[in-house]
Amino acid sequence: MAKHEHVRVAVIGSGFGGLGAAVRLRREGITDFVVLERADSVGGTWRDNSYPGCACDVPSHLYSFSFAPNPDWPRTFSGQRHIRAYLEHVTDTFGLRPHLRLSHEVLRTRWDGDALRWEIETSKGSFSADVVVSATGPLSDPKIPDVPGLDGFPGKVFHSARWDHDYDLTGKRVAMIGTGASAIQIVPAIQPTVGRLTLFQRTPPWVMRRMDRRITGAERWLHRTLPFTSTARRGLLWGIRELQVSAFTKQPAVLGLIENLAKANLAKSIKDPALRAKLTPSYRFGCKRILLSGEYYPALAQPNVDVVASGLREVRGSTVVAADGTETEVDAIIFGTGFHVTDMPIADRVVGAEGLTLAETWKDGMESLRGATAAGFPNWMTIIGPNTGLGNSSMILMIESQLNYLADYMRQLTVLGGRVALAARPSAVGAWNRKVQSRMERTVWKSGGCDSWYLDANGRNTTLWPGTTGEFRRETRQVDLAEYEIIRPKAAPVTAESTPRDTEAVA
Ligand SMILES: Cc1cc2nc3c(=O)[nH]c(=O)nc-3n(C[C@H](O)[C@H](O)[C@H](O)COP(=O)(O)OP(=O)(O)OC[C@H]3O[C@@H](n4cnc5c(N)ncnc54)[C@H](O)[C@@H]3O)c2cc1C
Repeated sequence: MAKHEHVRVAVIGSGFGGLGAAVRLRREGITDFVVLERADSVGGTWRDNSYPGCACDVPSHLYSFSFAPNPDWPRTFSGQRHIRAYLEHVTDTFGLRPHLRLSHEVLRTRWDGDALRWEIETSKGSFSADVVVSATGPLSDPKIPDVPGLDGFPGKVFHSARWDHDYDLTGKRVAMIGTGASAIQIVPAIQPTVGRLTLFQRTPPWVMRRMDRRITGAERWLHRTLPFTSTARRGLLWGIRELQVSAFTKQPAVLGLIENLAKANLAKSIKDPALRAKLTPSYRFGCKRILLSGEYYPALAQPNVDVVASGLREVRGSTVVAADGTETEVDAIIFGTGFHVTDMPIADRVVGAEGLTLAETWKDGMESLRGATAAGFPNWMTIIGPNTGLGNSSMILMIESQLNYLADYMRQLTVLGGRVALAARPSAVGAWNRKVQSRMERTVWKSGGCDSWYLDANGRNTTLWPGTTGEFRRETRQVDLAEYEIIRPKAAPVTAESTPRDTEAVA
């Protein structure tokens, strides 16, 4: 018979979010938890994205946990291999291995309103948990567009997040679809190797130079010997980014100044006026994610690269056809077409208190309370939930704020005592989202004249946080019980000492 395990907390996912939650639970003295991970190792994003050139675009000293500084980052913007190794190191250092349940894909979870717990079905047995922390990642499930004729393509096809390292690109004719953050790292990495590279670009990105360099031995020695220097470096990187936020969220006009620098970068790198015109964005700087690379433009200027300023329309045999009619014969198609962000796949697999899935509840757009909990889904918390993304800084800052919220949530449950669940009040969820969306109106993401993956099918930005990371930290420091219904078991026996109630309102 399949094994069933009950735990206090089930964490789904073992990227920065899931591992961070695991560390935080242990620090709160909670050891009765599992981390359910569909892959056979930890690392999330940094396990799955192993494409050539893959690296972070936020400096490593900020793109790492504050509670696990790494004095040995090799570069200012370290590569995938080192970030993945860092997450393995965190797993060992904080004793997380016994909690890991690898190759356990969560297939379905259902709230049991009588037992006040989540029933969880995985690919390797079932679990139940009082609390679920869903850290399945915003950029975890690759999106490949439905291109007519793709099935009949005789060559190689893969997504940037599922790189096929067994396929040798040397001398091949390659179509790269998309010009997002992954594509601009891939293009310069493969351009010298491939025979011909055709880049399909629906919209050109704004690109600034990335100030990447080796971190010297002396710097590393200093950070190891005097750890406060590493903290100071992180603080400086954080502070600079906090100062930039108001340009994105309140005064997009200020971004015009930086836009000029980006234009100068383009002009310096691309001498051919026709190519430069193709690569010049027609929307405001910052509206889509600003991309950082010193190698992207020079790679595009090479003679074995063509830029087709149009999306992919169809595939006919080994010919890829752009929306503008351009036809190119290729051996391989690489999709750098992003992820299921505003339609997160886990939402289809979670059935809440009303019998609806999270996806059904969110059919008009994702909405949560403080980026974490959702009405109708008691004791369910999402790490990097709706409106917690950033346009200019490290997601680890947001994750750590959410871990503060999780820690306080667990404390509140303990203080309330017994079998108990917290359910976000619809009124609180509504109030939070009205506030977030009203602040969104002034942002460059709304007014900058672009269509981006930050927006959902209704054109609403349910992805980004329209403020500083410091503000988000303050907003998530503590759970405000007034925003929750406290749910006790319905069938609690009536005794002289107790007067059961279905729900306790906390005013
Ligand atoms: C190429 C790339 C570069 C990036 N660079 C940066 C950067 O420089 N700075 C920055 O701030 N952010 C960056 N990001 C964003 C990045 O996603 C976040 O910073 C962070 O890594 C997200 O961590 P996470 O744990 O929430 O999600 P992930 O790292 O995506 O981890 C989610 C985990 O959940 C697992 N999972 C999903 N569904 C299930 C299921 N049903 N059952 C079991 N397990 C499941 C997945 O296998 C995965 O291991 C980048 C993203 C990508 C793709």
